[in-house]
Amino acid sequence: MIEDRVLIAGAGPVGLVAAAQLVREGIPVTVLEAGNELSVESRASTFHPPTLDMLEDLGVARQLIGEGLTAPKLQYRSKKDGVIAQFDFGEIADRTRHPYRVQSEQFKLTRILLAQLHNDSNFRIEFGARLENVAQDADCVRVSLRIDDREQIRTGRWLIGADGARSEVRRSLGVEFEGFTWPERFLVLSTPFDFDAVMPDLVSVNYVADPECWQFLLRIPGMWRVMFPIPQDVSDTAALTTDFGQSLLRRVVPGITRFEIAHTTLYRVHQRVAKQFRVGRAFLAGDAAHINNPLGGMGMNGGIHDAVNLTSRLVAIYEGRAADHELDRYDAQRRLVTLESVQTQTIQNKRDLEAKDEASQAEFRDRLRGIAADPDARKRYLERVSMIASLRRAEELG
Ligand SMILES: Cc1cc2nc3c(=O)[nH]c(=O)nc-3n(C[C@H](O)[C@H](O)[C@H](O)COP(=O)(O)OP(=O)(O)OC[C@H]3O[C@@H](n4cnc5c(N)ncnc54)[C@H](O)[C@@H]3O)c2cc1C
Repeated sequence: MIEDRVLIAGAGPVGLVAAAQLVREGIPVTVLEAGNELSVESRASTFHPPTLDMLEDLGVARQLIGEGLTAPKLQYRSKKDGVIAQFDFGEIADRTRHPYRVQSEQFKLTRILLAQLHNDSNFRIEFGARLENVAQDADCVRVSLRIDDREQIRTGRWLIGADGARSEVRRSLGVEFEGFTWPERFLVLSTPFDFDAVMPDLVSVNYVADPECWQFLLRIPGMWRVMFPIPQDVSDTAALTTDFGQSLLRRVVPGITRFEIAHTTLYRVHQRVAKQFRVGRAFLAGDAAHINNPLGGMGMNGGIHDAVNLTSRLVAIYEGRAADHELDRYDAQRRLVTLESVQTQTIQNKRDLEAKDEASQAEFRDRLRGIAADPDARKRYLERVSMIASLRRAEELG
């Protein structure tokens, strides 16, 4: 028997936002999650203004904001020149209900969403259910799962593959993940060290350009996260030692003998986009569809934008307001916007911070100072970095 449900692989931020959007419109959903519980990994922690608007529509923004930290300002520095430019999201208060970023770990969002979803009879979640294969015909999609070492089948009308960067849905559909992997890895050190006390004018989001070792300082509740690039000739083991972490933090604030390091994450960074976001009754969203470097905080946000775009179309189909080709527009809009905006912007952010020669460093400095000095350019810039521009672009694509 075919169940008239939407199946969602993955209970990350993207899968659960998709579930919340569908369930609130009365559409039955089953989320299939490989883990035995929600992930509590320290990963994305930035929510951009339009994402907060979407989460407010789902009734979860207030709690997320309450558990996080609001960051209205964004700053660029260079090791050599100090503060180059600063931007204030307050300037685009006419474009969003949330003219600030919120710094809050992504596991807080998934926890809040799951608590809300549990109250709805249209919602089911199966933990310990790893999707292994996808098959489909004209009427339904059939997924094979591995549960307690046994194969089980679930059927539904549609499938959303929100199962992360190593998506089994993507693999099973045979969709290529085009792009490249950066040679360096990124190391994130979380520390309660009081950077404000020693770095005047610091705001909650600070990018520091340095040809030798750029840094990204991000305040989260009770902690700073500091990100560094790790060159190829440093092994994972060496990069994860305390001494190495201390030496990196001393690049930010020289002269400190010992920083408290609460958490360390080392990871590979990719720029990849799936060749298709739709194959028949199955869709890819979030990291399953695209991954990028975290400079700009666009990965999870872009994924949430995918989820909202796709589910609004599925709702229209369920309600008989749209025909099947409506779903092709999800692929057309979100894939193009990912390539044009998210990939381009995050690659540019990295190149700006690591610029090696004086000419490129000067170009970055002058470009930013030029934008900061011009009110219209400043607004356009803020719309771009907050991802308002990419959402508008998707709409314009029709
Ligand atoms: C170490 C690390 C640090 C990061 N830091 C940042 C950052 O600072 N800023 C930023 O913007 N982004 C960051 N990211 C990226 C960000 O975390 C992702 O963009 C975001 O998690 C995407 O959400 P998602 O729901 O698409 O995928 P995920 O959060 O990966 O969720 C996928 C879910 O699917 C489940 N799953 C996987 N395979 C299967 C399967 N076969 N069957 C069923 N379930 C499955 C997983 O268990 C997981 O719960 C980071 C990523 C990593 C790995």
